[in-house]
Amino acid sequence: MLTLQQSTPELFITPPLEIQNLSLESTLRELSLYDVQFECSQLGKDVAQTFQRNSLLPGVILTEQGKFIGMISRRRFLEQMSRPYGLELFLRRPLKSLYRFAQTEALILTGDTPIITAARRCLERPPELLYEPITVELAPQIYRLLDAYQLLVAQLQIHELATQLMSQLYHKLEVANLQLEHLAASDGLTGVANRRRFDEYLQACWHQQSGSNSLLSLIMCDVDCFKIYNDTYGHQAGDESLRKVASTIQRVVKRPADLVARYGGEEFAVILPLTPLNGAVHVAEAIHQEVRSLGIRHEKSLVNSCVTLSIGVATLIPMSELSPATLIAAADSALYQAKSSGRDRVIVYSPLNPLQLNQ
Ligand code: GH3
Ligand code: MG
Ligand code: MG
Repeated sequence: MLTLQQSTPELFITPPLEIQNLSLESTLRELSLYDVQFECSQLGKDVAQTFQRNSLLPGVILTEQGKFIGMISRRRFLEQMSRPYGLELFLRRPLKSLYRFAQTEALILTGDTPIITAARRCLERPPELLYEPITVELAPQIYRLLDAYQLLVAQLQIHELATQLMSQLYHKLEVANLQLEHLAASDGLTGVANRRRFDEYLQACWHQQSGSNSLLSLIMCDVDCFKIYNDTYGHQAGDESLRKVASTIQRVVKRPADLVARYGGEEFAVILPLTPLNGAVHVAEAIHQEVRSLGIRHEKSLVNSCVTLSIGVATLIPMSELSPATLIAAADSALYQAKSSGRDRVIVYSPLNPLQLNQ
């Protein structure tokens, strides 16, 4: 049984604090380190008392005339004490004699060693030394001890943090990719789909509906007398009008599968998958009406005093002997009919007799 009379330097013991706010770059000096030092001339019982009073203390640092000479871990110390005659041999003798037996190869790392590196060095030790505390050199001749278990807990926290950061980064990357994809597919001026996206989507719809005997519709819109508009009000006003027309078409077209695209300069197209002719005509007329209702002044227009659209509508069943180009040509032909029959109207494609729907 140990008798404890002498006071021990517990004031210098740093309690194991919770490890918080560690980052990937955290170093050993951010961890809770034990500061318990003994002169090697002190007796074994002094260390025994200190270990008894501080059950978590992993070891003590030994100095000779204030200079670091090594450390004795709790484990080695107890091992020596439990040897035959250990207590008699070491309790009342200077620590130096105990150190000769209890000494192990110390792992000494500087305070700015990253925790991840330290954990690796700690685990690389031979199995019998795995749990020995690590000596941390904070500055020349300033040493502290670090519990190996605490180091591994810190390393685990950093590992979790790294995993978290990686998943956040992955998420950000996914969002950025989606934004990029969206940017690559949209028209810079109006924000609706661009021509590339139009071609892709029409091809995809065609492919999907092929063989299903279902109807695919296409609406082609062209702003009337837009060259005159630019000449009258300037290109900036022209751009602004195109933006308004695009957002109006987008507002009218409601089904998620429908796609509004800028087909060319002042031409817009709407792809309506699984939509029969009467449905497409309904949408086309709504677009025509809504754009007119914007009331964008166009005094020199040949057909109205506001900006108007000529619109061609075509519907067909995608079949293997046809191609998306057939549908575009049909809608374009209807649009041409709308232009040549006076503009500002919706015309449905018919090979022989294009049908004018409104004026
Ligand atoms: P129509 O009624 O026959 O369609 O006559 P239009 O003047 O609209 O047709 P035309 O093809 O002769 O001219 C189209 C005009 O559209 C020419 C061009 O200045 C204008 N335009 C095309 N793209 C843009 C654009 O991005 N911004 C502006 N402001 N104008 C554009
Ligand atoms: Mg045009
Ligand atoms: Mg035009």
